[in-house]
Amino acid sequence: MSKVFVITGPSGVGKGTLIAELLRRVSGLELSISATTRQPRDGEIGGRDYHFLSAEEFDRRVKADDFLEFATYSGSRYGTLRSEVRDQLAADHSVVLEIEVQGARQVRAAMRESIQVFIAPPSPGILRERLRARGTDSAEAIDVRLEVAEQELAAQDEFAYRIVNDDLMRAAGELEEIVRTELGLPLHSEAE
Ligand code: ADP
Ligand code: 5GP
Repeated sequence: MSKVFVITGPSGVGKGTLIAELLRRVSGLELSISATTRQPRDGEIGGRDYHFLSAEEFDRRVKADDFLEFATYSGSRYGTLRSEVRDQLAADHSVVLEIEVQGARQVRAAMRESIQVFIAPPSPGILRERLRARGTDSAEAIDVRLEVAEQELAAQDEFAYRIVNDDLMRAAGELEEIVRTELGLPLHSEAE
């Protein structure tokens, strides 16, 4: 049966990296492409990384009730289009949402059957290091993200699953095991 997996946690913790590894390891999973009003980063492509919308277009789609969830994060708006989730489930694919905590709460309320995973850093300090190393955000933007991270870390007990992203391959293995178990798949792929 197809399921909705919500992966959340503070910026820089490694959500995107872990999900990319998960999609390599488990077939039949599709990533929901979010909408956002933030500017594309170098190398990001509309329709692949995000649906990049103007503030007016985002607002119009909120009013049209097109979003399963949406939130303001670090001065920009982000949201999951209902169509992204609906179309994948209709095609018998499970869907992975990579979203921040406010959005995760909204999905939990709307879809109690969604599987919610919080990715935690081994220490709060490491977030700054990873955001700096990623090189996609200014020092000011990193400060804002770290302020939000404090609130997000305080919410981690709300989530059914929690994975500490210390060693990437170990954490990816844990995420893979959660997803395989929830989908009723064998714990290791045939190829191994
Ligand atoms: P998020 O999607 O949560 O904002 P990213 O996946 O972009 O985070 O990861 C932030 C940075 O940390 C990236 O440069 C990534 O390569 C690095 N990273 C992710 N996981 C680990 C890990 N376990 N150990 C060290 N660096 C990591
Ligand atoms: P970034 O600007 O680094 O791409 O994303 C900033 C934050 O927004 C991250 O925590 C990311 O998970 C979250 N985010 C991305 N897409 C969505 C979405 O559709 N909804 C919500 N609520 N958050 C999102």
